[in-house]
Amino acid sequence: MRLGSAASALALLLAACGASGDSAHREETTTEAHGAEAGHGETAAANGHGPALGPAEAHAGTNVPHPAAHQQATHWGYGNQRAWAGVSGLCGRGQEQSPINLSSAAPMAEVPDLAPRYLPVEGGFVNNGHTLQFNPAQSAATLGIGHDNYTFAQFHFHAPAEHMLDRRAYPAELHFVHRNEAGQLAVVGVFIEEGAENSALAALLEHAPREHGDEFAEHLSVNLTALLPPDRAYFAYAGSLTTPPCSEGVRWNVLRTPITASAQQIAALREALGSSSRHTQPVNGRTVLLGS
Ligand SMILES: [Zn+2]
Repeated sequence: MRLGSAASALALLLAACGASGDSAHREETTTEAHGAEAGHGETAAANGHGPALGPAEAHAGTNVPHPAAHQQATHWGYGNQRAWAGVSGLCGRGQEQSPINLSSAAPMAEVPDLAPRYLPVEGGFVNNGHTLQFNPAQSAATLGIGHDNYTFAQFHFHAPAEHMLDRRAYPAELHFVHRNEAGQLAVVGVFIEEGAENSALAALLEHAPREHGDEFAEHLSVNLTALLPPDRAYFAYAGSLTTPPCSEGVRWNVLRTPITASAQQIAALREALGSSSRHTQPVNGRTVLLGS
């Protein structure tokens, strides 16, 4: 997660990070890594980027490259995630980290209505070295969660999925990132499973920037609603950014029902993304609600 389409500049820096292949090891503990000072997130906030945002989750959608991006572009990769604690202490010792394993056996609960008001939006599509990310040119799309309102900031992909459902990882996961006026983040997670071709995804993949640092700068019109499943039952829990600085206080809303993409589309996503999933993190007694 990170702000702005400082993404281009950022991407150039991050391209050298060389995220290596992920291992089959999908679970990490948070009992280690006291070495790094806390607060890279706070530093990011002090740099004028708002609340503690990391490279993948939190692009604001501004089109003005921000020089602070250079200061924040710390090298990290998905191949050695224990080293993230050296980038931000929270990644190692945070107690409310994301992603987590979700259980479909969770009791159904009263959760606030999830109301995406996603009109088609125009924006740019960038490969920032960690993910493919769509940054809207203007933020007309909003998300209501009960009485709370958030403005759509960006969406991006992970492959394989970061959240697991009953210990199973879907081939990919979409994250729609939103922010409210207080700067708090709410992310809607959508699993992607293999099945029928997804026409909304096809239009995106056609313009997917293949190389790190590439940007499809022309305005691309995206129908965000077409990237959501009709069934809006979702898991609600309090978590974090899934990339350094792993800032907490993120309101997670992971839809139970996946959308589909063809095998070819998933292969294209994987090729463009490389390995881009954080290992699941301990729940640590957090309440995870499932409702609709
Ligand atoms: Zn993400």
